[in-house]
Amino acid sequence: CGIVGYAGSRDALPLLVGGLENLEYRGYDSAGVALVEDDLTLVKRSGQVEELAAAVPDASDATVGIGHTRWSTHGEPTDENAHPHTDCTGRVAVVHNGIIENYDELKRDLREKGHTFASDTDTEVVPHLVEDELAAGKTPKDAFVDVVARLHGSFALAMVVDDGDEIYLARQDSPICVGHGDGETFVGSDVTAFLEHAREVTYLENGDIAVVTPDGVTIEHDGEVVERGVEEIEWEAD
Ligand code: GLU
Repeated sequence: CGIVGYAGSRDALPLLVGGLENLEYRGYDSAGVALVEDDLTLVKRSGQVEELAAAVPDASDATVGIGHTRWSTHGEPTDENAHPHTDCTGRVAVVHNGIIENYDELKRDLREKGHTFASDTDTEVVPHLVEDELAAGKTPKDAFVDVVARLHGSFALAMVVDDGDEIYLARQDSPICVGHGDGETFVGSDVTAFLEHAREVTYLENGDIAVVTPDGVTIEHDGEVVERGVEEIEWEAD
């Protein structure tokens, strides 16, 4: 339903929770965040963003993270099914809007390889597929690109791994955009996620893969770097 992300030098946690509050108008049944510290910290709850805000740590060192408000399509609205989802190692966290149509067959293959699943969602196959590609020696970006190529359906995806300050994004029939700040970059499924912090926005197109860092975004399409331009959003605070 709603995706937020932050890569910068400020405390990511309140920015992520604030972004999720901005997206509450869309409707949702669960919410969660992944914070990149020495390890990943995942906190997720069924219910309101308010309940998530009460469950997150008082303080965090994370300056990079992602968050999600979920509108369930596969799996009941429970804490376990809330996003972010992770892999068997806990190194990878993924949030997802939309539906992965071929998740059943991907899940069956992963189970045969020994993966165990913590949720009933279509989404959870993604971090497990990435886990296998990382184990095979790929970089997180190459792993992400190769996994996204295997997914059918409609999705906006955001991924973080435990040892980087990048956020990886993919878009297929579900919107995702990036907000440019000064030494910090925001991610949103729509601009309301981050408009009070960034007005210069780049929208991904179908088939795009993006790597977001505190310094900006690099977008690739079919393996070639592409320019998607920057739009200035005019907006009056009320
Ligand atoms: N299909 C995913 C799920 O049910 C994502 C739903 C959404 O867009 O929030 O968890």
